[in-house]
Amino acid sequence: MKPLSVPERLAKNRFELDEEESHIEVNQEVVKATGCAQTIVRCCSAHVYTEEADGTLSVEYAACLECGTCLQVAAPGALKWHYPRGGFGIQFREG
Ligand code: SF4
Repeated sequence: MKPLSVPERLAKNRFELDEEESHIEVNQEVVKATGCAQTIVRCCSAHVYTEEADGTLSVEYAACLECGTCLQVAAPGALKWHYPRGGFGIQFREG
């Protein structure tokens, strides 16, 4: 049996979207002051972050894989991140 590619494996995951609460908040002032937007955008394999023309960072938190990488590379205070509330977020089907 041929092993599945990474995109094929990721496609098996399910997301339960919490429409009432984002588990990611951006402190736009810290992002602008430290210039860490591009670093955050580039580190996220799920393409959760987008740097807008005005320099702000937008977030599509529904796609988050909950890996924590963005927190590791962001300037201190740039992001507030916590796991989604119980029952919400990513549900991995492959490992
Ligand atoms: S935790 Fe991982 S997947 Fe989620 S936004 Fe951060 S880098 Fe992207």
